Amino acid sequence: MTTESAAAAARATVYGYPRQGQHRELKKAIEGYWKGHVTADALHATAAGLRRTNWRQLADAGIGEVPTGDFSYYDHVLDTTVMVGAIPERHRTAVADDLLGGYFAMARGTQDVAPLEMTKWFDTNYHYLVPELGPDTVFAADSGKQVGELTEALALGLTARPVLVGPVTYLLLAKPAPGVAADFDPLTLLDRLLPVYAEILADLRAAGAGWVQLDEPALVTDRTPAELNAAARAYRDLGALTDRPKLLVASYFDRLGEALPVLAKAPVDGLALDFTGSAAANLGALAAAGGLPGKRLVAGVVDGRNVWVNDLTASLTTLGTLLGLADRVDVAASCSLLHVPLDAAAERDIDPQILRWLAFARQKATEVVTLAKGLARGTGAIAAELAANKADLASRANSPLTHDPAVRARAAAVTDADARRSRPYAERAAAQRAALGLPLLPTTTVGSFPQTTELRTARADLRAGRIDADGYEERIRGEIREVLAFQEKAGLDVLVHGEPERNDMVQYFAEQLTGYLATRRGWVQSYGTRYVRPPILAGDISRPEPMTVRWTTYAQSCTERPVKGMLTGPVTMLAWSFVRDDQPLGDTARQVALALRDEVGDLEAAGTQVIQVDEPALRETLPLRAADHAGYLAWATEAFRLATGGVRPATQIHTHMCYAEFGDIVQAIDDLDADVISLEAARSHMQVARELAAHGYPREAGPGVYDIHSPRVPGTEEVTRLLRTGLRAIPAERLWVNPDCGLKTRGWAETRASLENLVAAARTVRDEL
Ligand code: GLN
Ligand code: ZN
Repeated sequence: MTTESAAAAARATVYGYPRQGQHRELKKAIEGYWKGHVTADALHATAAGLRRTNWRQLADAGIGEVPTGDFSYYDHVLDTTVMVGAIPERHRTAVADDLLGGYFAMARGTQDVAPLEMTKWFDTNYHYLVPELGPDTVFAADSGKQVGELTEALALGLTARPVLVGPVTYLLLAKPAPGVAADFDPLTLLDRLLPVYAEILADLRAAGAGWVQLDEPALVTDRTPAELNAAARAYRDLGALTDRPKLLVASYFDRLGEALPVLAKAPVDGLALDFTGSAAANLGALAAAGGLPGKRLVAGVVDGRNVWVNDLTASLTTLGTLLGLADRVDVAASCSLLHVPLDAAAERDIDPQILRWLAFARQKATEVVTLAKGLARGTGAIAAELAANKADLASRANSPLTHDPAVRARAAAVTDADARRSRPYAERAAAQRAALGLPLLPTTTVGSFPQTTELRTARADLRAGRIDADGYEERIRGEIREVLAFQEKAGLDVLVHGEPERNDMVQYFAEQLTGYLATRRGWVQSYGTRYVRPPILAGDISRPEPMTVRWTTYAQSCTERPVKGMLTGPVTMLAWSFVRDDQPLGDTARQVALALRDEVGDLEAAGTQVIQVDEPALRETLPLRAADHAGYLAWATEAFRLATGGVRPATQIHTHMCYAEFGDIVQAIDDLDADVISLEAARSHMQVARELAAHGYPREAGPGVYDIHSPRVPGTEEVTRLLRTGLRAIPAERLWVNPDCGLKTRGWAETRASLENLVAAARTVRDEL
């Protein structure tokens, strides 16, 4: 095809769309189903209605080919597990009896059966359920969901492209099933899995799919030659099928690197590549590989995971370059729009001028369409859009919000000493032991306690003016008293105030920091029915006044035991927000760190002896490519030390992270120089404790002994066993006892029972020492 005809054929598409609906109808329907208020039929009907609305919205915006199969009741990787029949043994009966019930049991567990492990989807804040595979895994095709959703879209008269997790990524994301040797490599199952994909592709073709998209984001991370070979083999075999739709292999979140020539050579019909951020390197690599002669290229030029309006002129330049490199060039967002909120137009509280800097899923679909139009018909066809876009970009670049001279001067004056504690860890540990007088295996929690309906009502009442600030304050204080009374009675050693005043651990701070924007309806799926509203880090950051001191000091005034102050760390403040794309992340992190440093200082001055600075996002923000790690970790750890480095030796700094696999950043965790760390470990049977020990981690640690992602109550026996396991890796002098994470998503009954069991287990194990 010539460059001109490649351009003229340009179409707009996306790989996925927010699932929840404008009013989070999906969350309500699913949670209603769990509680028994909503029938399975009603849930299915709500879901089908949402899918229809989404497709219509996309089609009306001008998206020529809509995605199907991206919708999910919980997670698309779990859907893939169902699709390939890899149901774990322990869930098989439940799934056979009732697919929907069994599906949610795999996701959430039941009192008797553990759920699948959950972990972050690449470097996003979306969580997927980890497939469990073993040498005995037998796959079986179940194309029902994919075919069903395709049929729905086709029935609306739309051109639709099913989107599936690709076989290589599926296997690379899997782990050995319980009872299977830890060194089992799921990729060895590829030959068994490919026929199942072949069957599903045939079913989709029979159902009317012209194209099917196979997502292989795992190929944007560093891969061994054996893994790249497996990818080559997979797409050689799938490409060679005769009864198949056209295949589009998609990658996103970073550059493909050495996987690019592998996929470019594969006998598939098209590739979808990310050209945003560090993935922009795909452009040069694609040219170097000789382009994609005879293939379709879907160019992800609109950032699918951030909220800023696209620089249309820059994107058109990229697209223009790409035109010479493929047979046909289509325009897309860089990844599924699942990772951004639905519609910026729903934001009523953001200054209209600033709102123009933002693009959510709906606006991004329109940008993609505009770019496809510009590519097909020339810039003249989109002159008005280009002019408006230029004005919006200029207004952002010149705004006082994005340039505060005082903040910039302070950040520029930071010295190395500012980012260091005054004494080494060993000396601090002795001072803290003397100051705190805690028993061996001290018990604590990670911070939040159940966010009850009363708390949410109190916040709603305050917003609606039904109660005033004093009334709200009194309700929060009442909650703090109750949380403290429970902890004292349960026998916990280091108490927390329970974070009742916080809607969310990032948003709460964002609302009080200058430079952040809050959204009202900017919900993004984190896992299952849990949605978060990431704030938008739009400008230079400063802290007009203390953010947490009054709650923490009130809590401390109610008890003799130490109360931990609770803050969210700089990296997490960035990771769970939409970040600026107009300056290096490290610069933004430093501004946030300085604001937190002031808060830490104020807490200490008010008598807080233990301060926890949560950095659950340290690992997930790690760039996907190892070559980019050192640069990131340097600014990330410096930001943490800058936030916490100013306190006295006797003040104990805790940090918390919620993930089980962190082998590759254990040095960075050490570099934070925190005194105590709590980590998620319950589902992985204290794996982190062994990893810390293997590294020679010298500080105190609390690998979690209570999995808070499920309503299941761990028994005293079970916690005791986990603690004994932990003690084999971490000596009693340095082992803490705590849940995996905060308890805000849990109910009170299960929280009470679980924490009582946790304290009982700690006492049992203490007696054994
Ligand atoms: N302190 C926070 C809480 O307990 C930590 C949450 C998190 O790590 N995700 O809710
Ligand atoms: Zn956590």
